This record gives sequence, structure tokens and C-alpha cells, in this order.
Amino acid sequence: MIKENDIYVVTGGDYTSEGIGLAKVDNFPIFINNLIIGEEAEIKITKVMRNFATGKIIRFTKMSSDRITPVVPETIHLAGCQFTQLDYAKEVEYKLSKVERALRVIGGIDFKIEKIHTAKNPYFYRNKTVLPFGKRKSGKVYTGLFRHNTHEIIAMEKTHLDDELASIVIAEVRKLIEKYNYEVYDEKSHTGQVRKVMVRVSHYLREVMVVLITKDEQIPNLDAFCRDLVAICPNITTIIQNINSEDTNVILGKKEKVLYGPGFINEELHGLKFTLSSKSFFQVNTLQAEVLYERALTLAGITKNDVVLDAYSGTGTIAILAAKKAKQVIGVEIVKDAVKDAEVNAKQNNITNVKFFKDDAGAFLTREIKNYNFSVVIVDPPRKGLSDEFVNTLLRALPPKIMYVSCDPATLARDLKKLTKKYNVEHIECVDMFPRTAHAETIVSLILRK
Ligand code: SAH
Repeated sequence: MIKENDIYVVTGGDYTSEGIGLAKVDNFPIFINNLIIGEEAEIKITKVMRNFATGKIIRFTKMSSDRITPVVPETIHLAGCQFTQLDYAKEVEYKLSKVERALRVIGGIDFKIEKIHTAKNPYFYRNKTVLPFGKRKSGKVYTGLFRHNTHEIIAMEKTHLDDELASIVIAEVRKLIEKYNYEVYDEKSHTGQVRKVMVRVSHYLREVMVVLITKDEQIPNLDAFCRDLVAICPNITTIIQNINSEDTNVILGKKEKVLYGPGFINEELHGLKFTLSSKSFFQVNTLQAEVLYERALTLAGITKNDVVLDAYSGTGTIAILAAKKAKQVIGVEIVKDAVKDAEVNAKQNNITNVKFFKDDAGAFLTREIKNYNFSVVIVDPPRKGLSDEFVNTLLRALPPKIMYVSCDPATLARDLKKLTKKYNVEHIECVDMFPRTAHAETIVSLILRK
């Protein structure tokens, strides 16, 4: 039996879905941060749970030649930190095998995936950043990411995945918090004024949205704070105060006030204009999102005769791009603000053959399937995958073609297991949307079996 404080020598065999190294002792899984596949290390068991244990590296007995120097040194303290120290080509190889394995083990589908679209720049790609604040006794304010398994903020001048413009803006936000002497939020005591800062940057247009998440609504000198910030960072086109008074890990509260600018930023994708508000989903890696959309729509082979459903449509990106080729497109999305953004986006691009509905995708499909003769159904669900209702309705309605865009191989495989009762998997490819993390994005085209 494995016990706390036991010492073992183990070999990295895999990674968890969160990117933690995984080794086995007597077939029992041990999660060990910073262990690369193939590396050998002496570890100490730190905690034993029912189905797994966690361990800490004492020393490496064999290090991998795939290990590289991290671009941002502080990242060695983060969860999944070996991904910032792993040769990118190896990361990509791992992701392909992870998707293939999930499809085989969970989905019963044997498929050799030919293609993964790698990122030209695997760092500084995120167009959305959310960071917590810390304050030293000296009054100095810092931001950063949490140390593995803790809520201790590792102070970072710039983060390794976020657009560098966001890091520059956040540095100025920190200085102004010092200047106006705001108290930073403390999770334990649930006190303080400013909780977190969220920054959205449009990759192409370089517009910046700053969302200051505060505990209370009344914060002194916010006008001056905004004036100062905009004067220093002219890329900032809008500033929003989001009020989150709850004792919670949820980032954004319900109430928002626009302090400066229009309350949204603009972005351009494939030559089309998109407007994003603070709460709408937008793919975090703009360049790779373009690749993803281009591939998904090419594989979908949409023509002027097609009636397309874009389920889980977010701000309407896929629907609007599809509408340029299709007869009609329907988008369904559960977040109200995203639906509003999608409607604005269709309008400002003069797209008239698309309509968006605010609803649960499954409930919508079940209710509306008789009213539309969908020839192509595109789905792009969150990590939990499709709902049972959605899958069951699809299996009754049997549209000729389904394009499944997935950000979680396990739920993709689970859903494909059901869909392949009636559909053939025609093609699978991956797009690396989240370089330097364990997350894998997959596009699958399914054709109704004759
Ligand atoms: N296709 C879009 C969004 C994909 S992300 C894009 O590429 O930008 C998944 C989206 O599904 C999110 O916008 C989320 O709000 C939405 N969503 C989550 N659960 C849902 C549900 N039950 N019904 C409809 N949409 C849902």
C-alpha cells in the first residue's frame, strides 16, 4: 500500500488532462508535476486518495533530452509546468497520440490522425487574460499565476501565454492600484477592493478591453484611474467595472458598468468584423482559430443548397463564416450577451441569412428540428461535450453531415461512440489551439451511413 512520505523511483508515462505528469507504482496512478514522459525521478508521496496519489520530485535520476529552458522562468512553479519546458514538437506528438488514444479507448474508434496544425508562435498567443492581485507589505502590487496546488500568486512581470500587450497594460494597472491605494482582494478573509483584472486584446486590430473586477460597487477615484490608464495605454478602447461581491471562485459578477468607451472591442477574422463584449466566449488563440474555422468549413463542404445549424455558436464566428457559403444558417447559444454580440456581428458584416437563438442547444434542437431541414450540423461544445438530449435528437433526425469541433478528446470520444451507430467518421484533424498546455482541439467530420 502506498503511504504518505513513501519514496519511490518512477518513470513519467503520461500526462493528466490538466497537464500534470503521470507515473505508476504497482499500477496505482501518481500525479507528479514537472515530470516529462520518459523521465525518471525519485519522488516523495504527498497525498494518497482513493484512485490516485500525488507526489513531489526530490531529484531527477534521468532527465529528458526533450526538456528545454522555459521562455518565462517563473512558469516552473505552475501546474503542468513541464509543458513550458518540453520541446514543442514533442508536445504536438503527444497531443495527437492523446486524441487517438481517447478515440480508441473511450470511443472504440481506430483512426490514424494525419494532420495537426501547429502554432507558428506557441507563446504569447492568448487574447484573454485574467490575473489576481497581490500586495506586498511595502505596498507594491503584483499579478501572476497560482503556484501548483495552491492559491499563492507567483509574481510575474509577463505571463508566457498571454499577448504581450496585455502584460504591458496589466503592469500599468498595477501601478495605478498603488497610486490610488486600492486594497487588493484577499480570498481567505473575503476583503479588499479590487479582485482581478481581465484584459481582452484583439489580435489584429490591437484594441484592448480592461475589466476591473471589484468586490464592491463604490470604489473612490475610478474616473481618475481610467483617465490615467487610457493616457498611458492608448490601445485601451474600453474599460469596464465588473462587480463581484460573492465569496466565490467565479471570475465575473453579474453587474457591470462601462467606465470608458463602448463596452466592447472589435476584431477581424478572415476579413470579417467581430465585436466582443466582456462575457462572450471568443476563441483565445486568434491565429489558430482562423485555421480551425477554415478547416472546419472546408471539411464541411457547405454549398448554396445547405441549411446549417451552428450549435454552441458563441459570438457567431462559425455561423457567420458558414453563412457566406450556405443558403441559411441557424446559431444557438446559451449566453445572452454572446447571442447579442452574434447578432451585431451578422449585421455589421451584412450577413442576412443567419439567425441566432438564445437557448440550450439540446432543447432547441429537439423543439425546432421539425421546422428546419438541416443538411449540415456543426457543433462546438464546451469541454463537457454534447448533452444526451442533443445526441439523441441528432440520432433521430439524422442530418446527412455533422462537423464536431471539440476541445476535449474524452467527451468527443464518448459522443462519437454514440454517433457512430449511424455515422461514419470521414476525417479527423487537430488544430493546436492551446500550445504549451495539455489541451487538444479536434475536428471530426461525420457522414450519415447509407
Ligand atoms: N463556436 C464558438 C463558441 C464555442 S465555445 C466559437 O468558436 O467562438 C462553446 C459555447 O457554447 C460557449 O459560447 C458557451 O457559452 C456555449 N454553451 C455552453 N453550454 C451550452 C448549451 N447547453 N447550449 C448552448 N450553448 C452552450
